[in-house]
Formats: sequence, C-alpha cells, structure tokens
Amino acid sequence: MMLKIPVSEIFSSIQGEGPYVGTRQIFLRLPKCNLKCPYCDTKTSVPDKFPMETIPGSRCFDEMNNPIAIDELVRLLLSYDFSLHHSLSITGGEPLIWADELQALLPLIIQNKLAIYLETNGTLPSQLHKILPLVDIISMDIKLPFGDQVFWDIHESFLRESLSKEVFIKIVVDEKTSIQDLLKARDLIAGVNPLLLTILQPVTKINDINSPKPRQLLDWQRLFLEKLINVRVIPQTHVFMGQL
Ligand code: SF4
Repeated sequence: MMLKIPVSEIFSSIQGEGPYVGTRQIFLRLPKCNLKCPYCDTKTSVPDKFPMETIPGSRCFDEMNNPIAIDELVRLLLSYDFSLHHSLSITGGEPLIWADELQALLPLIIQNKLAIYLETNGTLPSQLHKILPLVDIISMDIKLPFGDQVFWDIHESFLRESLSKEVFIKIVVDEKTSIQDLLKARDLIAGVNPLLLTILQPVTKINDINSPKPRQLLDWQRLFLEKLINVRVIPQTHVFMGQL
C-alpha cells in the first residue's frame, strides 16, 4: 500500500529566520508536535484538508485531502519551479514525527536537485538518524526549560548526531528568559563545538510573552560570545515583511 502523510500547508515564501533569511524556499509544513512551547504560534492538529499554493507566490490556494500519498505529494511539489527556490523547508509542528514518511519522500525531491532544509525542535535524535543522509541543512532549536520539561541531554545527543551535516542552533528568547538557562545552553553548545553558529531569536510578542529589551539582547549576545565564536541575534523577519 502506498505510504501517506498528513500535511498542514504547502507554499512558496521567503525564509524569515536564521542565517538563510531572505532565501526563497518551498515550505512543506507538517502537523503534530511532541512539545507545547508557551510561545507556539502554529496549529499542530491534523486538518482534513490542507491548502496548497497553486502558483508559487500567488497566494492562491487549492484544498487538498489529508493524508496524501507520497507520490501525489511529490507531484504537487514538482509543479513548482525548483530553480526559483533555494531549498525545500520541512517545518511543523515537529517534522521528525514523520521521519518514516520523509524517508520515502525526500529521495524523490533530491533527485530533482532541490536541497533539503529541516527545521526541528531538536528533541527526536533517533528520528533524525533515519533521515540524516537525506538532509542538507538542519535548523535545530534548543528549547530552554518550560514547565517541568527539560531537554539538555536530549538536545546534546541531537546536536552531536547533526554534526555530519550543516547545522545551526536557534534559541527563542523573551524578556523573562533566565540567564542560568542561557548559560547552560551556551555551555552545551561550547562543549560540542564552539564554532557552531548560534542564533538568539527574540520572540515575536504573543499573549503575555514579550520580546526581550534591547539591552537584554546585547548582554546575552556578549555572554554567548564569551564561549562561542559565531553568535547572531535575528528576529522573525517574515513578520515585518508580511510573509507567511
Ligand atoms: S516545537 Fe515548535 S511547533 Fe512544537 S510546540 Fe514548540 S514552537 Fe510549537
């Protein structure tokens, strides 16, 4: 039986986060997540139908049925002009929940010469292992502790697993972020490789979670630079641009 996968949305847009900010990507957003971050702005439930942008950048969408067969999904993605796009951004939710399905999908994309850019919360290393050879760039979050959830050891395993690929780290920070947590994240990264690019991403205000003050960002970047070589502060720029 043909493998199927549920999809949240497919569209073409401008990458708004991290070092690839400004590049044009095809976004394949997949549902479900294993975490519940307090600042999450993404619907993670599986919709009955998902929107697929008809022509890249047109913001006209067709409704497609979920779940979709992998070969049909490949056909939809191939209807976009790959030469316009830097890569296929696989995002979520947490896309590694669908590692088995991605194992079937990604070879069919790669053979059509599009790079694979994975956005992940960095907590499912055994799932990453399944698709690692198929991925070019990994945007890995380090989630600072929230509630009773603490991820240091799992993040370290994930980061070490990622090192055979291009990987950078993103840490979302808000005005109440604890310095102790930031120092722990910094030391974790430094212990793996101090050359790893680390992005401090000020949260986009949501509910009562506010972006850090300008002074906080300067202080935190300085603290990170005490042990890491490449530390940048980059907000979610697609929000300013009105992009999806
Ligand atoms: S990992 Fe991402 S999708 Fe999942 S809850 Fe956190 S912010 Fe939302």
